[in-house]
Amino acid sequence: MPDIQLINGKDIAAAHRTGLKTRIDDFRQQTGITPGLAVVLVGEDPASQVYVRSKRKMANALGMNSFLHLLPGSTSEDKLLKLVKDLNAAPDVHGILVQLPLPAEIDSKKVVEAIDPEKDVDGLHPINAGKLLLGQNGFVPCTPLGCLHLIQTVTKDLSGLHAVVIGRSHLVGKPMGQLLLNANCTVTQAHSRTRDLPAFTRQADIIIAAVGIPHLITAEHIKDGAIIIDVGINRLEDGSLTGDVDFDDVTAKHNCAITPVPGGVGPMTIAMLMENTFQAAQNAAP
Ligand code: NAD
Repeated sequence: MPDIQLINGKDIAAAHRTGLKTRIDDFRQQTGITPGLAVVLVGEDPASQVYVRSKRKMANALGMNSFLHLLPGSTSEDKLLKLVKDLNAAPDVHGILVQLPLPAEIDSKKVVEAIDPEKDVDGLHPINAGKLLLGQNGFVPCTPLGCLHLIQTVTKDLSGLHAVVIGRSHLVGKPMGQLLLNANCTVTQAHSRTRDLPAFTRQADIIIAAVGIPHLITAEHIKDGAIIIDVGINRLEDGSLTGDVDFDDVTAKHNCAITPVPGGVGPMTIAMLMENTFQAAQNAAP
């Protein structure tokens, strides 16, 4: 039987939140400031409503303020930009998250760029993307940040390890590659045009799958002893959720450390949003 280390994101995120709550309590006592997160959702998409409510619930559980702005799908771009401007100016709001995707009539790029980079806890503003590229302190997108934390629960020193990141989105793949490069990994960035994906992934000490294709990664893609982080969330016809990695196939054939789906990257993403919001509040403190 292969030796499997399950990277339990649910438990790791819960432990992280416990520590974070203590730090937030101490901060509030010392400064009188309660970190505040504003979450904006445009439209009635039920999955997005679940996401934003869970973010709000988590913020409240950690002793932070949360401000939920649920706007109808018919909201104009100007109205949304005005709200973002007001939130930028609001002293009790330290972090702003505009839930993506936005309705097609709204230019998401314009909206993201309107967020004050100091409050951009999603890390999507070009200023923060640029800081990550330059290795400067800024806000890093929550999902790749969470993935890095999960990898570091397996091994602290990533120096010289070969990481293959599959996917190159602004939200996950690109910042993930950059974070791993900054942690001194040798990084291969694979994507939809990559030829012979298994030839790359079989060399990987770390694999990050952020594609959105169920079970794209199978045992034939893996070398023994790899750390496998499955970012993919795919809903199957029977309603169940599965990742980009064929968990059963991989774990039947290889020693590895691997995240499950669900219960892997997802809980860590929300924990990192809370961490970024706390960071924003600390940065704003006199
Ligand atoms: P995206 O659609 O923006 O990007 C997908 C990437 O996969 C692209 O860069 C594309 O080049 C690459 N790709 C497509 N087909 C490929 C193939 N055959 N081989 C190699 N690469 C291929 O998606 P995204 O926003 O980066 O999200 C990726 C997945 O992660 C989705 O399933 C999404 O639901 C999930 N996700 C999960 C979380 C979380 O918190 N767990 C957060 C964000 C996204």
